[in-house]
Amino acid sequence: MAVQETVERKYVYDFAEGNKDLKDLLGGKGANLAEMTNLGLPVPPGFTITTEACQEYLATGREPDGLADQVAAHLAALEQTMGRCLGDPDDPLLVSVRSGAKFSMPGMMETVLNVGLNDRSVVGLARQAAGSGGQADSAGAERFAWDSYRRLIQMFGKTVCEVPGEEFEHALDDVKRARGIRDDVELDADDLRGLVDAYKKIFRKHTGRDFPQEPREQLDLAVRAVFDSWNAERAVLYRRQERIPASLGTAVNVVAMVFGNLGPDSGTGVAFTRDPASGAQGIYGDYLANAQGEDVVAGIRNTIPLQELERLDKRSYDELLDIMARLERHYRDLCDIEFTIERGKLWMLQTRVGKRTAAAAFVIAGQLVDEGLIDLDEAVHRVNGAQLAQLMFPRFQLDHEFQAVARGIGASPGAAVGQVVFTSARAVELAAEGKRVILVRRETNPDDLQGMIAAQGILTSRGGKTSHAAVVARGMGKTCVSGADALEVDVPARRFTVAGQTVAEGDVVSIDGTTGNIYLGEVPVMPSEVVQYFEGNLDPERTDDALVRAVHRIMTHADQRRRLAVRANADTGADAARARRFGAQGIGLCRTEHMFLGDRRELVERLILARTDDEREKALAALLPLQRADFVEIFREMDGLPVTVRLIDPPLHEFLPPLEQLAVNVAVAQERGEDVAQEEALLAAVRRMHEENPMLGLRGVRLGLVIPGLFAMQVRAITEAAVQCARDGVTARPEIMVPLVGAVQELETVRAEAERIIAEVVGGSGVEVLIGTMIEVPRAALTAGQIAEAAQFFSFGTNDLTQMGWGFSRDDVEGAFFWRYLELGIFGISPFESLDRDGVGRLVRIAAEEGRAARPDLKLGVCGEHGGDPDSVHFFHEVGLDYVSCSPFRVPVARLEAGRAAVETTGSDSR
Ligand code: ADP
Ligand code: MG
Ligand code: MG
Repeated sequence: MAVQETVERKYVYDFAEGNKDLKDLLGGKGANLAEMTNLGLPVPPGFTITTEACQEYLATGREPDGLADQVAAHLAALEQTMGRCLGDPDDPLLVSVRSGAKFSMPGMMETVLNVGLNDRSVVGLARQAAGSGGQADSAGAERFAWDSYRRLIQMFGKTVCEVPGEEFEHALDDVKRARGIRDDVELDADDLRGLVDAYKKIFRKHTGRDFPQEPREQLDLAVRAVFDSWNAERAVLYRRQERIPASLGTAVNVVAMVFGNLGPDSGTGVAFTRDPASGAQGIYGDYLANAQGEDVVAGIRNTIPLQELERLDKRSYDELLDIMARLERHYRDLCDIEFTIERGKLWMLQTRVGKRTAAAAFVIAGQLVDEGLIDLDEAVHRVNGAQLAQLMFPRFQLDHEFQAVARGIGASPGAAVGQVVFTSARAVELAAEGKRVILVRRETNPDDLQGMIAAQGILTSRGGKTSHAAVVARGMGKTCVSGADALEVDVPARRFTVAGQTVAEGDVVSIDGTTGNIYLGEVPVMPSEVVQYFEGNLDPERTDDALVRAVHRIMTHADQRRRLAVRANADTGADAARARRFGAQGIGLCRTEHMFLGDRRELVERLILARTDDEREKALAALLPLQRADFVEIFREMDGLPVTVRLIDPPLHEFLPPLEQLAVNVAVAQERGEDVAQEEALLAAVRRMHEENPMLGLRGVRLGLVIPGLFAMQVRAITEAAVQCARDGVTARPEIMVPLVGAVQELETVRAEAERIIAEVVGGSGVEVLIGTMIEVPRAALTAGQIAEAAQFFSFGTNDLTQMGWGFSRDDVEGAFFWRYLELGIFGISPFESLDRDGVGRLVRIAAEEGRAARPDLKLGVCGEHGGDPDSVHFFHEVGLDYVSCSPFRVPVARLEAGRAAVETTGSDSR
């Protein structure tokens, strides 16, 4: 019988074997440690256990076969390199065991330092430290060794054995109190030895066993704990919010320890190669002498600015700056780093391409182009529409006067200021008095909807980015901070407490939906300089605002590269003008509904109540000049650019007074004996037109086919307006769009009449009018080949298409249960926010392909909010649409994302 031989998988990589492109396998930290090692930078030796090992462990509940042996082999090699053995009683090698997933998940997973210390090797470590000289005397060396040991028990206990961290902290506080000292560094070796005893007792109490003395057992347990931390509750939550796939798993890095806590000539720090807040060049970092690992970020002691390291240790400082410059050139981007200095010797412990604010992203991309590190395509690729959108919100003007009292999750961006209220009803009341309010709740629910609409912003103490409050606020475009758990919200008492202060109903707070910061009092709000620029109020060539210059440059390049045109949805001349300033190349959706509101209601009522053709025609004739004037205004603003006008869409009863109000009016008038014939007729009409499901009822093309002359009047108004413009030297390019078409016959009927009118009105003016349709009913998408025979263009109405594709009534579902769907991961983002590629997107794709097959010059566009959503824009680019149309304010976002889609598909040679 042949021996079955399975080739064992490679689960462990030495740092020298990896590189920065192996993030999937080695995680970000491991891949970058390998990269730095191969660059010849001073990285302590070590190895990485792959994410695949983690995945197998999580799937099967045990370490994969061969892992233990591979770890043993790599550990032996490490011991050889270091010339000492893990946990050796005389001269111990110690290691850190560090998590590191593909995507950085700050603070979510675990790291254990000083693995290898036990009751015997702690003595060896002290001797080793004393022997190797430096500024530490033998008392200092003892202190260092026992400090390292107590840290191990603490970290190991907490992360590996789930001992409550506070217990260790309390024990530490007890010792400090007993000794009357404030700072950890003042503890002497005896204090720390005592603390080790106390920690061991705590460990025993919670685990029922002694702290493990066997170094390899410590290592294996720590590795396992890092694997397990991938599925810790907070990590799972974080991943869901950031849409990081749960299947990735984390790698584990085992790194030889270097010591920043060996005395005053040692220390540890973090640094950025540029300012991650503004993008400005310079040295940004913090340093802490005589400290280990997390002390810097934990804020236990006050750090010093990195610049001061120059005074303390010029050699290490110069070397660090040199390495930072090398890393930037190598990664061609801002990097953040962790380093430690052990007795004057610099060690690099981590680097990665650093996170940054939206403003810094633009500024840095611009700088890197200037420095010749990247080209403009790459610069466009490095920023995104979400960042640009963030920069277009007004911001708080913060000086030192304002300190955030707490911080929650930035769930829906913007800067909101108002008086605190605790109930929806109160929010509505105060808003009706013209007051600005912030609705504060533990968590909102569907009953809070009215209050949320009335409020400037929403603040909750519970829930994350997918909570009810967050989802609904984003849907409404309202500022929201969720999950501010430092707030104790007491709704019955109408107050909350935070950081020892009480905030009662009526007090003013300011919330920042981008950062999640909460301020007491009114923080002044300032307009966005980026919007000033788009408005044309800031000359990008003249300003010394680095952000505006960078935005200008990147947008200009995105515009050059993009294939998709960008239009705006605008219903008035003023909106059209603004859209044009923001770079719109036409109007993709001009709704005609508003033209039936206000003082024109009376005409609409006459139209609806008309009993004879004559009455109806009179009403339409009165509406005609009003509509025409509206169109003239828009065509003028959009001189030379296409304007898609949608024929009237919503159900007519929306233009009539609400049923209840009308019924009351009639009853009251009757009581008084007044003549109510007119009102009664109106009431009857409203009753007649009442629909159970208005979204699926008599609207769109259906209305046009039922009310004779309505569409004809609109077509005439549009065409006459265009002809009038032509006479005045303005080029109007109207495109008449028929809504809610489901069958080609509907469109053919409308079109026959429209063409007759157009031909009659246009005469010799040279005006050209296109006729096309919306594709927003699934049936239209599925019969697009037939519909294209009668349409010169399609515009995808993705809101209705989503609504009807999913069978979701948008007005109901977002508030009612979307939060639950998001929580369950049924979708990662509301399909009204970002196009559902698989389902609704498939309808778009089919319609685009079949429409173009039937009519090759068919113009394809999209109107609806998806037109301004970054991910959706990429999809529309892929599907081959000609343009996207979105609200004027989103136009820059769509321009940028269309440019990004183009540089990403054609590729950039700068890589
Ligand atoms: P995180 O991902 O939370 O930053 P790390 O794995 O980077 O966790 O480690 C936590 C801290 O311990 C960091 O400050 C890091 O620099 C420090 N550290 C990790 N490994 C070592 C080591 N081998 N020697 C000295 N310090 C280390
Ligand atoms: Mg780190
Ligand atoms: Mg629609």
